[in-house]
Amino acid sequence: MHEMALTENVVEIVCEEARKQGFDRVRIVRLRVGDMAAVEPEALRFCFDAVSRGTAAEGAALEIRRAPGEGRCLDCGEAVPREARFADCPACGGRRVQLTSGDELRVEELEVD
Ligand SMILES: [Zn+2]
Repeated sequence: MHEMALTENVVEIVCEEARKQGFDRVRIVRLRVGDMAAVEPEALRFCFDAVSRGTAAEGAALEIRRAPGEGRCLDCGEAVPREARFADCPACGGRRVQLTSGDELRVEELEVD
């Protein structure tokens, strides 16, 4: 499962921050997840509970903010919203739309005790 690897990465980042900043417990982990990242929030929460056990991230709530997909058409240069990874340019019908954002998953903020 793709969410498992992503979650391991998130927990690693949280533990790294805990070491650097000297906190023991994280209350809330705010994540930004692009709509194109193909991540199921429920699967992410499930994996997070399993992976964070015994770490500084254990028991933390996950707040997931979705980020819409955006792309740029290589044919007409328009910036276009992306609702699907493979869709034609709504401006010119071109097929070469490059994804510029929306496939990221990153830790935006931690709320700690
Ligand atoms: Zn176009």
